Amino acid sequence: MDTDFICRFCLSFTQLSFPIFLESDPDTARDIMNCLQIKITKDSIGPIFICNNCYDQVHNWVMFKKNSDEVLQNIHTIINSVKKKPVSTTNEVIDLLDEED
Ligand SMILES: [Zn+2]
Repeated sequence: MDTDFICRFCLSFTQLSFPIFLESDPDTARDIMNCLQIKITKDSIGPIFICNNCYDQVHNWVMFKKNSDEVLQNIHTIINSVKKKPVSTTNEVIDLLDEED
């Protein structure tokens, strides 16, 4: 059985597919492994192609992760800037509680 054009990730048989491992485009294999949390090499058993639909899903995941990482970085920046501001109310609250005793 010729597996040249079978997608490794959905097993669809299509000519709208391309090699997972291309020396001219190492990002594809890296993105797939990061997205699926798997390790595959040129020598791994199974089809060596990814179809256009699966590639689009991987690309969408890459863009989602990139955007999420940037948002997370912004959240950390905001939290760190808030932490650096002096807090003056803490002692006042404790003083008030002490007076009630
Ligand atoms: Zn596919």
